[in-house]
Amino acid sequence: MDWIEKYLNILQCPYCGGDLEYIKEKNQLICKSCKKTFDIVDGIPILLKKMKK
Ligand SMILES: [Zn+2]
Repeated sequence: MDWIEKYLNILQCPYCGGDLEYIKEKNQLICKSCKKTFDIVDGIPILLKKMKK
């Protein structure tokens, strides 16, 4: 999972464009600005806006 930390600087929050932080314990990324969290599935961060139904 180390590559995620390397590439964090080129990833951004799809909602607000803010910086993301990797939370190892939860295996999630969190946006430093709007505090939304994104799951990491099979080593791939899911940085998609969730569809509203
Ligand atoms: Zn954000």
